[in-house]
Amino acid sequence: MVKVRFAPSPTGYLHIGGARTCLFNWLYARAKKGKFILRIEDTDLERSKKEYLDEILESIRWLGLDWDEIYYQSQRFDLYKQYAQKLIESGNAYQKEGAVFFKYQFSKIEINDLIRGKIIFTELPKEEEVIIKSDGSPTYNFSCVIDDATMGLTHVIRGEDHISNTPKQILMYKALGLNTPEFAHVPLILSPDGGRLSKRYGATSIREYKEAGYLADAIANYLSLLSWSPGNNREIISLDSAKEIFDIADVNKTGAEFSLEKLNWLNSEYIKAKDTKTLAEIVANFLKDKKFLPENVSQDYLEKVTQLFRDRLVKLSDFLDRARFCFYDDYVYAPDTQEILQNNLSKQIDALAQKMSDIADFNKLAIETEFRATCTNLGLKTKELVHPVRVALSGNRVGPGLFETMEVLGKNEVVKRLKRLIQYWQST
Ligand code: GLU
Repeated sequence: MVKVRFAPSPTGYLHIGGARTCLFNWLYARAKKGKFILRIEDTDLERSKKEYLDEILESIRWLGLDWDEIYYQSQRFDLYKQYAQKLIESGNAYQKEGAVFFKYQFSKIEINDLIRGKIIFTELPKEEEVIIKSDGSPTYNFSCVIDDATMGLTHVIRGEDHISNTPKQILMYKALGLNTPEFAHVPLILSPDGGRLSKRYGATSIREYKEAGYLADAIANYLSLLSWSPGNNREIISLDSAKEIFDIADVNKTGAEFSLEKLNWLNSEYIKAKDTKTLAEIVANFLKDKKFLPENVSQDYLEKVTQLFRDRLVKLSDFLDRARFCFYDDYVYAPDTQEILQNNLSKQIDALAQKMSDIADFNKLAIETEFRATCTNLGLKTKELVHPVRVALSGNRVGPGLFETMEVLGKNEVVKRLKRLIQYWQST
């Protein structure tokens, strides 16, 4: 049975690269009906932090991934010591000044990497290496080997940056007489300029993407496309579908270029594809985390506002400034509305406010009909009132359809805001 692991060190947040490694392991385990293990590599007691651990676990869950077992290396120091002792007894390691050193017995090593094919290692930069430090903690290569072996892992799927560790680990397996797993080294994620992914191009943590208003399923979908493809130029694929067809052998060996543009496109597609009720719940949670919502906003109202903006959103954070006027009326008229506001239409807006308050069923259609009729009666073109009314209602010159917006705000709010504009004209 396939058994794979993701082995993060809780010395920082979960970044795009780590999340993709985690995803590929998970997809492979689920595709093969195997097991997916999370192994927390917290051997560096000083740099490992609970805050990072919590965030890593939360990000993994948020992406929609689950694990079958979880282990902490900090709880397994005795095991590493026992294996170090075996190596000392067999002459493969020795103790000096409280530390244990492993002696590499190097010979040419060949692996058949499931992604990269044959890799041959003809030399090692070191002849020996500390495997247990004097404080009793193991070093990465050693604890990794002991765990991969004792946990019965069949495949080690990890970032390409670990290729140079692989021959060292193989020599440790050999010295201990343990079976080596298969290896699959996933290519790096590259910046659009070809270099390693840097912060400038979005090498930020999953948590930052969440906070910026990306949807979990859009991010997971995007990560799955970094060096893998479901075929037929398909770009939108859920985890449920991907896990049916994923195979580690189909992962490309060339680096994947990170494209914020594509991620944004996917995110807006996922936003569009959600039904309004579900999207409104996601929006509500997002806005709550940002402490954005005033108290007592009903789910029903939130759904209406979501409906109003949903097709214009790339990220949920776009909601924060664009939809703010739906929750707060303390906005000032934006500087670029001055050319609209310089034409004082107090009388006409007052007439419109009167007509609006007379509408019994304040819906989009009734509003539009009455709005147009009022313009005709006042001898104005519809757009001559549309612009100032939009500014009155939202403080801005652009926004979603005006009549829908008016329906969502409701009659009282519309009339109140029209009066506010009249007051503004009177006071300037
Ligand atoms: N803790 C290591 C890392 O975060 C794991 C490497 C491995 O998968 O072997 O890079």
